Amino acid sequence: MNYYSLNNPSAKVSFKEATIKGQAPDKGLYFPEKIPALPADLITNITSLSHEEIAIRVIRPYIGDTIPEKELERIISETINFNFPLVPVTGDISSLELFHGPTLAFKDVGARFMSRCLGYFVKDQSQPVTVLVATSGDTGGAVASGFYDVPGVNVVILYPSGKVSSVQELQLTTLGKNISALEVGGTFDDCQRMVKTAFADPDLIRALFLTSANSINVARWLPQQFYYFFAYREWADKDHPPVICVPSGNFGNICAGLLAHRSGLPARHFIAACNANDIVPSYLQTGTYIPKPSTPTLSNAMDVGDPSNFVRILEIFHHEFTSLKKVMTSYSITDEETRRTIRDVYRKYHYLPDPHGAVGFLALERFLAEHPGEKGFFLETAHPVKFYDAVEKETGEKVLIPDTIKNLLGRKKQSIKINPDFQQLKNILLSA
Ligand SMILES: *Cc1c(COP(=O)(O)O)cnc(C)c1O
Repeated sequence: MNYYSLNNPSAKVSFKEATIKGQAPDKGLYFPEKIPALPADLITNITSLSHEEIAIRVIRPYIGDTIPEKELERIISETINFNFPLVPVTGDISSLELFHGPTLAFKDVGARFMSRCLGYFVKDQSQPVTVLVATSGDTGGAVASGFYDVPGVNVVILYPSGKVSSVQELQLTTLGKNISALEVGGTFDDCQRMVKTAFADPDLIRALFLTSANSINVARWLPQQFYYFFAYREWADKDHPPVICVPSGNFGNICAGLLAHRSGLPARHFIAACNANDIVPSYLQTGTYIPKPSTPTLSNAMDVGDPSNFVRILEIFHHEFTSLKKVMTSYSITDEETRRTIRDVYRKYHYLPDPHGAVGFLALERFLAEHPGEKGFFLETAHPVKFYDAVEKETGEKVLIPDTIKNLLGRKKQSIKINPDFQQLKNILLSA
């Protein structure tokens, strides 16, 4: 399988090159040249297959011969070595819990898969790879944990001082070994600007093998298909496939679900649940895509004003607006509604969603009210403890702290404080 740049269909690269580069030199996103049709027995026999067996069948066509079978099996079993339970919440709505990985968010799956692929691709190289990443919160933790102890890879994370939650900061700063955290006295935008400048700096390019762990990387995007199949494996009524609702920001997660569907995953319909950042809901109503500056909300991992993966969704549907609308609906949920949903779901059903999951729950409930007889699940993309201040305010109760976080709380933060000054970053990178 080769990948082409969405800006130039004739510029093709292998999975290996797409993973190492992240983005095409023309700044286009990579897209598979052909969407594979999965063998029908994968779906008919799905309950007899293990998660590992499902995952390998789903991803194999995308990898081609760039990773040998044994190696791919190891990468997959390390990527998905936690649970993906489908938990009933109401009679018609279940929650696909994607927060049982090490950093308690669904991004663990993509980050763990990508880090191991990259580790494999660079293992025979004499020069170590430096992964440079700016984070506003969740991405950094998943990337740090995913790359932890991967041989031949050093990770440098820039995060804005005082602007990530305490749990998120500990996830970035307590690992040590090949992970370094730079605490920047500035904003997320400063961090991102410094990283972009680094990728264009001739001295750094000469001295280091620099790459990014950006969420548009195909090795982060494609493995997100796995848990849609895992959920279908648990789905009781195979004759009536689920409506699938995905809390969406950059639209990578739902785009993976739509790709899986195009390959043969049964689903009634997809819902993109958005917060006040309603670019895609507006697009589906008007047919005009208008990016906007992002608006801060309670579900902050979805505060995206120009979702980068949306072009991939258009590509899956060959830019046909009506075929996209047949498969995907999108709702915009306000913070007020999100708060009320956290309260209601907790009181009525004794289930505690995080703010992102609450947006998903309400969007799904809205769709089901308009389509009687359907059932579905929403993706619970993060553990509520990651947003305990917002959640506890609604329920009036403490969120139970999972063991992974308890261990973290006793650890000592290790970071290097720097100013939002590129020269300082450059000196650190060159002296390492
Ligand atoms: C990143 C993130 C999202 C949004 O996922 P996209 O793939 O960017 O649409 C939703 N919820 C949580 C908790 C996240 O961390």
